[in-house]
Amino acid sequence: MVSGSVDEKLEPILSEVLRRNAGELEFHQAVREVLESLGRVVAKHPNYADNALIERICEPERQIIFRIPWVDDHGNVQINRGFRVQFNSALGPYKGGLRFHPSVNVGIIKFLGFEQTFKNALTGMPIGGGKGGSDFNPRGRSDGEIMRFCQSFMTELHRHLGEYTDVPAGDIGVGGREIGYMFGQYKRLTNRYEAGVLTGKALFHGGSRARKEATGYGATYFVERMLATKGQAFEGKRAVVSGSGNVAIYTMEKIIEFGGKIVACSDSNGYVVDEGGIDLDLVKEIKEVRRQRIAEYVRLKGAGSRYVEGGSIWSVPCDVAMPSATQNELTGKDAKILVKNGVVAVGEGANMPSTPDAVRIFQDAGVLFGPGKAANAGGVATSALEMQQNASRDSWTFERTETRLAEIMRNIHDRCAETAEEYGAPGDYVLGANIAGFVRVAEAMDALGVI
Ligand code: GLU
Repeated sequence: MVSGSVDEKLEPILSEVLRRNAGELEFHQAVREVLESLGRVVAKHPNYADNALIERICEPERQIIFRIPWVDDHGNVQINRGFRVQFNSALGPYKGGLRFHPSVNVGIIKFLGFEQTFKNALTGMPIGGGKGGSDFNPRGRSDGEIMRFCQSFMTELHRHLGEYTDVPAGDIGVGGREIGYMFGQYKRLTNRYEAGVLTGKALFHGGSRARKEATGYGATYFVERMLATKGQAFEGKRAVVSGSGNVAIYTMEKIIEFGGKIVACSDSNGYVVDEGGIDLDLVKEIKEVRRQRIAEYVRLKGAGSRYVEGGSIWSVPCDVAMPSATQNELTGKDAKILVKNGVVAVGEGANMPSTPDAVRIFQDAGVLFGPGKAANAGGVATSALEMQQNASRDSWTFERTETRLAEIMRNIHDRCAETAEEYGAPGDYVLGANIAGFVRVAEAMDALGVI
């Protein structure tokens, strides 16, 4: 078996996934990547292939698709489609975010739910995997429209949720405001103040400090630990972080705190380069307060920065690249340019942002590569800390929460590194993450019997 191909014993499982989920390309990509790693597991521990364990892991436990009717500001009835894929509950209630974006379809939610299952297992916390969302496009919608949409979405979804059943959170297009509206509707429909049913809540509803920062901070901690294995650190390094949502903003914040310089960031329209170092307060003002496009940066900042419409942010030379926007945003072509420009480490803040080609190019070039399911697990891990605080009706300080997060990220890094070593591929965090996540889910499933 060569790396980058699926072992012949596992090939029929992949074929069946492709047949059964025709046309769901992102889901195929995510499953293929995990199965490529599992050849070494079944070679060493054939029992992990018993009782159709791998086949069961590739099939979601439940998939819910529903209509979301709502009324826009002009009095027109709009229809969107809602999804929740409850992928695996062997380790705890389904846990994973909700994505509101026009690209959302069942294949995308399924890929995200599949990744989430292994990611959540890697955190070591008692959470299963799930994902949901809608093809609703929040861009340009008024606050009232967002609220009515969230209420209609929750009117159907609430019957499938519960603190012991399924606990959603945010993802692209879903932040604190949306979680608030959904929590309000859940509370109204169920007549229960069940704080543990959603995470990413406001502090006064039982939200956790550091949850908003957690994915970005966590990804930065992960990369810091990877760099340390080579005797390096962020200090004095140039970093490029794609995206300008929650993940990107708090990745930039932590990198700056660690002494790195952010030279570029982006949104889906284009990217900004600021050789003096991106002014993070200005990015926060534009994205979090004004909810505007990143192009505004150059207009407000003036001299020294430039905006490039379209194009690839990965052409900006850097030592550390942190793709934190969306799936498949970093292609093989981008990876080649990054390698040529001397990139040392890549940490995925988004879910599956690098194409399989890009991952291969980084690994062949000896670049430290932290895959999303390990590197961006800090968000969901802090969601699990939020659930813990809700269960004990407690509220931790920022420091306590961040200290736990840093510890969890160190553990995830080390577990991935040790697993890669154990399976004969030192430094291969993709293999390490896939195997370590799989083994934990597989053992938990096996102990539950054939269900
Ligand atoms: N959407 C985030 C992720 O991709 C967070 C999920 C959560 O907190 O449940 O992991």
